Amino acid sequence: MKILSRISFFLLIVLTLSAAGSDRRKPVNLILFIGDGMGVSHVYAAMTVSGNSMTFPAFPVTGFSRTHSANNYSTDSAAGGTALATGEKTNNRMISMRPDSTVLVTLLEHARAAGKSTGIVCTSSLTDATPAVFTAHVPLRYDYRSIADWYASGAAEVFIGGGRKYFEPGVDSAGTVQRSENVVLKLERAGYDVTYDLESFVASRSGRIAGLVADNDMPRMFEGRDPQYLARATAKAIEVLSRNPRGFVLMVEGSEIDDAGHNNSTSMVTNEILDLDRAVAVARKFAADNGKTLIVVTADHETGGMSIIEGNLEKKEVDAAFSFEGHSGVMVPVFAYGPGAIEFTGIQDNTEIFHDMYRLLFPDKKRK
Ligand SMILES: [Zn+2]
Repeated sequence: MKILSRISFFLLIVLTLSAAGSDRRKPVNLILFIGDGMGVSHVYAAMTVSGNSMTFPAFPVTGFSRTHSANNYSTDSAAGGTALATGEKTNNRMISMRPDSTVLVTLLEHARAAGKSTGIVCTSSLTDATPAVFTAHVPLRYDYRSIADWYASGAAEVFIGGGRKYFEPGVDSAGTVQRSENVVLKLERAGYDVTYDLESFVASRSGRIAGLVADNDMPRMFEGRDPQYLARATAKAIEVLSRNPRGFVLMVEGSEIDDAGHNNSTSMVTNEILDLDRAVAVARKFAADNGKTLIVVTADHETGGMSIIEGNLEKKEVDAAFSFEGHSGVMVPVFAYGPGAIEFTGIQDNTEIFHDMYRLLFPDKKRK
């Protein structure tokens, strides 16, 4: 009898755990991947040239996001990113501020207030619109020095990307120092280990690490960017941030997919997306082991009006065409994996993606 009751107790626990179901559990961690300018054709082109071996297109939940901004059917990265980072539409070129320039609280700020750790990994300058909407509040996206300054206020414990020149004192065309303030010094005073290449970033033992690994944007893949950069930077960020038992929010951007669309280059598109996918694979492995991590992969907008005219699955080739060199108004894909992933199915507004992430991460709080 004693053994039987032990068995039934054990069974009860197993049944309770399985009734909780993987999708009904709430995530503690969120890793958000943004493929800047990544539309459906971009993803399918990358799937084709990879022989359908990619990680994120195989995620169990897929959906679509409507991307229009407050003042334009076709958004830019500033307004599209602000919608994902804050849950509100704003005008193109504005960074996590309403059209009237009042401040919108970002997902990373909510995370910090809840005791979670935060991180940013990108291939553009850290002051570019997509990383900026998570870390800064400025009315105009091109105010790179003000955006750099926001990092010194602790917007992210771990961050890595380009834009070093905006963190260091600059000189204007007349040769005078633009600003006596040096953001690198501020970061060091705030306890950051400031590193200038991937190896030092990865080797750092600090819990606060800044990686300023290029003067402006990093090289594109075809210009020789280290094909391990994004995956290794993502792995290091996860390693540091996951020390926090309260969890973390990490945003990783495939920044230069957008450049590929602007350049109407199919090979650039597929190379940049496959690079992003290597970073997603690192995150998926962590999430599979960890069990409390939600991964969302989406885009801020589509770039280039890309379509695929023909292709060859055996030869892993695509013949693509582009409509123009700007951002289009089409919906962009959403891929989700982990606890809460089901919330991201169907067609949603980009602002609703924020609200889904917010409700899942902060279940005790009221809807923002
Ligand atoms: Zn663009």
